Amino acid sequence: MKTIIEPFRIKSVEPIHMTTPEERRSKLAAAHYNLFSLASEDVIIDLLTDSGTGAMSSNQWAALMRGDESYAGSPSFFRFESAVQALMPFKFIIPTHQGRAAEAILMSILGGSGRMIPSNTHFDTTRGNIEASGATAHDLNIAEGHDPSLDHPFKGNMDLIAFEQFMDANSQNVPAIMLTITNNAGGGQPVSLENIRAVSAIARACKKPFIIDGCRFAENAMFIKRREPGQQNRSIPDIVRDCFACADGMTMSAKKDAFGNIGGWLALNDPYLADQARIKLIQTEGFPTYGGLAGRDLDALAQGLSEIVDENYLNYRIRTNEYIIERLDAMGIPVVKPAGGHAVFIDAKAWLKHIPPLHYPGQALACKLYEIAGIRACEIGSVMFGQQPDDSEKPAAMELVRLAIPRRTYTQSHADYIIEAFEILRAEASSLRGFSIVRQPRMMRHFTCQFEPRVRTH
Ligand SMILES: *Cc1c(COP(=O)(O)O)cnc(C)c1O
Repeated sequence: MKTIIEPFRIKSVEPIHMTTPEERRSKLAAAHYNLFSLASEDVIIDLLTDSGTGAMSSNQWAALMRGDESYAGSPSFFRFESAVQALMPFKFIIPTHQGRAAEAILMSILGGSGRMIPSNTHFDTTRGNIEASGATAHDLNIAEGHDPSLDHPFKGNMDLIAFEQFMDANSQNVPAIMLTITNNAGGGQPVSLENIRAVSAIARACKKPFIIDGCRFAENAMFIKRREPGQQNRSIPDIVRDCFACADGMTMSAKKDAFGNIGGWLALNDPYLADQARIKLIQTEGFPTYGGLAGRDLDALAQGLSEIVDENYLNYRIRTNEYIIERLDAMGIPVVKPAGGHAVFIDAKAWLKHIPPLHYPGQALACKLYEIAGIRACEIGSVMFGQQPDDSEKPAAMELVRLAIPRRTYTQSHADYIIEAFEILRAEASSLRGFSIVRQPRMMRHFTCQFEPRVRTH
């Protein structure tokens, strides 16, 4: 069959609250044009994030009932631990309430002023935790990763030459090396197994721990299977194990590729680091066998991990993105190519050339999309990355708008609705105006800052 269907049927539904464009215009103004400030009930299709927004399976709901809420030594923890270790062969699995808690714990041990942490591209919370510790975050993604329209199978790869030069110059200040798979901030683009192994080899040669931010490990493995020579006949769990076997630890948001609504973990091989992490965990998250989660959450995650590596699911997931991208591309709308794992990215800089980067073309696009169709997307550009630690501002490398696709939540008719919204948007694109930021916190401003539409100056 050519048609790739949603490999599930629907047992429980959640009604969508429909709104009119007039209603949405006033909601948007009341939210100071920050889409994070909208009430989710005022959103028709919510593509703000794929984090924690997926649908759990009937087996996950059943697993919740198995959850054991003992404070210490719960069987839910041991089921969770073995589900993680079946895919990621790390010695110590430390549950946290979500990914950023794992990052905060790790950076409280490895971070500190003067330290430098390289990665292909740090995600915003990772960067926030590194900078909050006084250390600096360094992005060394290959140049192809910054060219949205360029077709390359592994745009998430680390630039190995730049990375070696970075280590030659800074090795004594580097406490750890990170790699984000897939590269969320860079368009959900994958990292090849070959690149993961090469980064690991350099890390080993420099005697530095190699930590993978593995939030979308299953999507990354599916891309390796599809795109990397020699990987076509391998199972997803085998590829996943290979990716993590060459690392010394990982941070994970279980709200992504573990089908969780909440959860995360930090995994480590070094017993000394793991001890320090558990001390911090007890101080901030909870006892090491629950780490800020309920026992039932741990059971839902253990079940989710067995479902996420299903190839029928991963094919449907990646096909959804390809389907939307092919149609937007045919309309002449600049999209990041090839399709990433969890989202469709629109290149607002290439599309809205009349809006300068620091007038936030991505924000203008995202607001218009909400107004037209009630679709909530997320700016990944100068609003998210433009603010500097000294509070100055510089344009981000790319001005993207991310349509993050929640897992197992929407169907093909929702995809068609999204495509139609872009047809309408295309007709209005040249009349869109930029925004200015009128209020912002000192870091991670995109979550809470307030905007005002710019008035036309001519
Ligand atoms: C979501 C995400 C995180 C942070 O995880 P949370 O569960 O949201 O705290 C870190 N890194 C990447 C790549 C992510 O996508």
